[in-house]
Amino acid sequence: MVNGESIILFGPPGAGKGTQSGLISTITGKPQVSTGDMLREAVSDNSEVGGEAKSYMDKGLLVPDKIIMELIKIRLSKDDAKNGLLFDGFPRTIPQAMALEKLTSVSMVVSLVVQDDEIVSRIAGRRTDPETGEIYHVEYKPAPQDIRSRLLQRDDDTEDTVRNRLSTFHKQTAPLSDFYRDKGILIEVDGSGDIEQVSSSIEAIIKRNSLG
Ligand code: AMP
Repeated sequence: MVNGESIILFGPPGAGKGTQSGLISTITGKPQVSTGDMLREAVSDNSEVGGEAKSYMDKGLLVPDKIIMELIKIRLSKDDAKNGLLFDGFPRTIPQAMALEKLTSVSMVVSLVVQDDEIVSRIAGRRTDPETGEIYHVEYKPAPQDIRSRLLQRDDDTEDTVRNRLSTFHKQTAPLSDFYRDKGILIEVDGSGDIEQVSSSIEAIIKRNSLG
């Protein structure tokens, strides 16, 4: 992998991007950047961007490209972005992908493939630790007993909003698979099944595709 090139972790909501991104970041040394996390931070800071973004997020709709690209430009200008970043949940539209091309080069797009039915059941059980940002699942990845009472469910993790987010994904984000396949950098990984299994597939793929 050439220094300075970024990696994209791609997939529908609930595919396990947040869960797997730490591993990829550790292997590649590229800092993880989640636009969803950045937006949630802006919402909890009560910033102007956060106020505007929340109305879209609560409905399961995409936040306008202009807002997202402003956040990405600022993030890419930071010192630790010099060797490239690991993008999680970005880009989500063709215009975002085209705008990104002008800012940094992308060496690899790891696409986690999971069917809709599995996603709905996964997201309903998803819980986040507000102190560490760690993501748990009531069934597949239970949190330690002593921290369970502080875990939170995301506002947009209700079944109705999840269905909207999935339909948004199929309409606006899924076409990015072809965009990156045509460039010869899309690598699809079966994201169903247990977390360790998916992690080891990802690890093997990254190592195989890394040039140095
Ligand atoms: P996530 O945590 O990645 O599932 O993102 C949560 C929500 O934030 C999404 O449902 C969108 O409303 C918004 N969002 C996150 N990243 C983007 C993006 N790249 N483009 C547009 N909206 C985004």
